[in-house]
Formats: sequence, C-alpha cells, structure tokens
Amino acid sequence: MSSKNHPDHKPATIAAQAGGLLDAETGGVVPPIHPATTFLRDEGYAPVVDGNVYSRTASPNGRMVEQVLAMLEGAADAMVFPSGMAAVAAVFRTLPAGATVLVQSQIYWGTTTWIRDFCTRRDVQLIEVEASDTAAFAALCAAHKPALAWIETPSNPWLRIVDIAACAQAVQAHGGLLVADMTTCTPVLTQALSFGADIVMHSATKGLNGHSDVLAGALSVRDSEAAVWQAIRADRDMAGAVLGPFEAWLLLRGMRTLPLRVERMSQNAQKLAEYLHDHPAVETVLYPGLPQHIGHDLAVAQMSGGFGPLLSFVLKGGAEAALGAVGRLQLFHRATSLGGVESLVEHRHTIEPHTGIPEGLLRLSVGIEDAGNLVDDLGQALGQ
Ligand code: PLP
Repeated sequence: MSSKNHPDHKPATIAAQAGGLLDAETGGVVPPIHPATTFLRDEGYAPVVDGNVYSRTASPNGRMVEQVLAMLEGAADAMVFPSGMAAVAAVFRTLPAGATVLVQSQIYWGTTTWIRDFCTRRDVQLIEVEASDTAAFAALCAAHKPALAWIETPSNPWLRIVDIAACAQAVQAHGGLLVADMTTCTPVLTQALSFGADIVMHSATKGLNGHSDVLAGALSVRDSEAAVWQAIRADRDMAGAVLGPFEAWLLLRGMRTLPLRVERMSQNAQKLAEYLHDHPAVETVLYPGLPQHIGHDLAVAQMSGGFGPLLSFVLKGGAEAALGAVGRLQLFHRATSLGGVESLVEHRHTIEPHTGIPEGLLRLSVGIEDAGNLVDDLGQALGQ
C-alpha cells in the first residue's frame, strides 16, 4: 500500500484516486483487501509492520478508508465502525455517570431512542432541544453546561437546518463538545469541523458508501489529541466495534464516486422539490434548497454544491393520500435508508407513529436516476 497526499487536491480528486492509495506490491491501481486478523512479529518481537498487531486494534483496510475520509472531511483523524449507531454509541460511552448532554429533538429516531435509553441506564441527564432555534440551544448551554451537545443537519426526516458555528461556540464556551451527525450532507456538502464542530459522525451506510450494500459508521475529529478521541479509540479497541476488512474495502470503493453522486442526487432532489412545491396535491415540501424553506439562507451559507438527497413532503389528505401515493410509485423503492444511488420512499409515520410525524408525510431519498423519469413517477402516483 502507498499513498500520496497533496494539500491542493480537491475532494473529487481525493475521492476518485482513493487519496492516492495503490497496491505497491502488485502495481494495482486499486488498494488490496487484507483479511488477516493477526500479524507477524520479528525475532526481536517487534511488529514486522508498524501498527499491524491484531485487527481489533487497527486493520489495514480500516486505516485506508479512515485516511481518505479524514482527507475529505478536513479532519485530523477518523475512525470507522460497523454501523452508524455503533459510532453514536462510541461517543456516548465516553460520558461519565452524572454528566449532562444536550441533544437535538426530532432527529433520526434510532439515535433519539438509543440515547434516551442509554442516558436513563447510565444516570446521564438528557436535555432535548430544537437546535435550529439557536437562542434556545445557547440558553440551555449556559444554564446546564453540557459535556456534549449533539446536532444533526439537515435533520432526518424534518430537514431542519442547524447553525453549526453558533452551536459550537455556545457549547464550547461552557467547556462542552459539539458532535454533528452530518449523514445527509456528507463532507462533500459541508465540512462541519471547519464550522467548529469537535467531532463529525456519519452513518456511512448512507451517502458515503452510496450503494445500499455496506452497513458502516464513521467519526472524524478536529483534534486527534483530545481526551475524548483517545477514549473513543480505547473503547473501540477493547469493546471491539470494528468494521471488517471487506466492508472497509467496499466502503472505500463506494467513496471514490462520492462527489459525483452527491452532486447528481442534489440536482435531482432540487428538481423534485420544485416540482412538488407546485403540485396541487402537496401541502408542504421540506427541502433546504427551496427559497421558501425556513432554513434556506443558513443552508446556503453552510452547504456548498447542493442540498443533498433527502426531501420530505406532506400530502393533502393525510395517511390515506400518502399511503395511496406510495403504493402507486413504481420507480421509487418502498424501503428505508437514504443516500444510495437508487431512489427510495418512506412513510415515516408507519415506522415511528408516536413521534409527531405528520401522517401525510413521505420522505424521499433521491438517487442518481434520470430526473425526468423520477418526476414522471411522482406525477403518476400523485395524479398530475
Ligand atoms: N444518523 C442518521 C441521520 C441516520 O439516518 C441513520 C440511519 O438511518 C443513522 C444515524 C444510523 O446509522 P446506521 O443505520 O448505519 O446504524
């Protein structure tokens, strides 16, 4: 394995060339897969290759994908995990009993559900806040001095936009850390560390991999010497939430087209949002690329190159209208998840009925298909 790292290389170049990773042994232009779990030591008992001892601590394929992700994220370091939720858990497990955390409300329900349960079991005080309300977020930071604040922007499935820089300042002013789940953006649209976040989290299952065939999570950090980062690394090592070499290899393969996919998904989502905005059967469209969206100006300031694949809209006529339309769609697959090359649709109320999701809301993850075909499918399902 070898790599070249040029500071002037743009994300498209870093991604396409996997950060310069090659197979030095064969001359292959694609990095190899190393399935070994254990590695040789020499006669003096030093590892034959520095850092390669046992793959729960560090694996060559894990390191490769982490290296490229850190470059794309503008991070000092990155770590991959076997799912997005494993990455969420790795952060929260560093909290001591009795700590206080501030968590954005109405984010991905799996995150909320797990954090609520974890905080109860661990005697951690949990405060939830609509973090797109910067003043409310800052007031709670001042009042409770949380050790950690968690945001997600754009949020899933409400598409709320949170001011990363303002939240970072508010929580750091009282000694806390800001962690941002940037799954829907990917580093192509927003590098949250450059806005002041301490740690960025991704469900790499989504846009980073982009092909709906790898379950993975990732954390990236601004300061790799920070105590929290060392604690997360030690916990991953000993508790063993590591990504296998085949998944790590596939993830890196997926990431090679990341900028291209994010650009096309964002263009398609923008077209669909505009189409839906003008459709008589539609009550509201939640997409930050629309000037009518409440967070549009902030999204323009914080996101570059598009507004991502995630789009929600509310149909007039509630659950009956939404489930009728979803049943008629032919090109959009009825399935959960987001950020893949194929377009998906989901009736979130069916999945999380007690969280206040409107019954008429449909969430789209817009893929890279032809935008005209996607518009036609929505048109026939909604009735033109
Ligand atoms: N964060 C967000 C925004 C998500 O949408 C998801 C999954 O849907 C997760 C975290 C959890 O990731 P995973 O399913 O890879 O565990």
